[in-house]
Amino acid sequence: MSKLIQQIASKSVFAKGEVALVGAGPGDPELLTIKALRFIEQADVAVYDRLVSPEIMSLLSDDCELIYVGKKQADHRLTQDKINELLAEQAKLGKRVLRLKGGDPFIFGRGGEEALHLLAEGVSCHVAPGMTAASSCAAYAGIPLTHRGVAQGCSFITGHLQTEGRLDLPWPALSVDSQTIVFYMGINTLETIKQQLIAHGRSPDTPAAIIEKGTRPEQKTIRGTLTSLPELVKQHDIKPPSLIIIGHVVNQFEEQNLNNNGYFQAIESEDAVFSDFRRYTAA
Ligand code: SAH
Repeated sequence: MSKLIQQIASKSVFAKGEVALVGAGPGDPELLTIKALRFIEQADVAVYDRLVSPEIMSLLSDDCELIYVGKKQADHRLTQDKINELLAEQAKLGKRVLRLKGGDPFIFGRGGEEALHLLAEGVSCHVAPGMTAASSCAAYAGIPLTHRGVAQGCSFITGHLQTEGRLDLPWPALSVDSQTIVFYMGINTLETIKQQLIAHGRSPDTPAAIIEKGTRPEQKTIRGTLTSLPELVKQHDIKPPSLIIIGHVVNQFEEQNLNNNGYFQAIESEDAVFSDFRRYTAA
């Protein structure tokens, strides 16, 4: 770690018998926080999810014990109750327990349930927020989630089916044209999302995008409209983890500026004053 990072990081003390609920971000290790890195380097045992990228797993020390806990929709390795119990058990053995989760632990991450269980068991825990998929995947795909005059707000919504297979969401509120909606876990319910939003007044031509494996080297972004997106997802064989973004913000940047993830490439042209400026100052 650089001296500068050490100077900031010396405050996160991870005591034995504690748990750290740590957000690992969406995949790119450069999006880890310094706090997350501190907990990662001190952990005795890591209880981790499917969404934590291999590059981040490789940062754990060789003597850190690894416990994989799931979860894929159809293959729940451990139920949430069992995960909660496991975390408390490991802490009570006197270990520093790293609970490493994709994105942010408190955004569709069940981190709140884990923290409540730990406290009920008398175990203290740290929480290190992570970059959530919505903000990081959108940024890497060149989509500003809010944009002056285009989107005044943004909602993060789960597309995961509730009990009895229903997707009960506040559709009228979500159908307001001036807001961006981001669906987590929405790939299997995209057709319903499309139908409900259109039925509640959102224009069928509203721009929409899906980002597969956002911020990883394999990131793929497909842009279309509310009407065309479900078909495009099939055509391009898009798989989880994927994030859906609906709203006019999707098309704020030109495709020609977006051929690298997390980078806006200025294209040379007669009137590209800003790009020329950047090129000269960088030299
Ligand atoms: N706690 C996580 C979300 C977990 S829910 C967070 O804050 O990001 C799992 C869903 O997150 C996935 O189904 C997908 O919709 C989204 N997701 C997580 N990582 C992603 C990634 N790298 N690319 C695209 N979507 C991602």
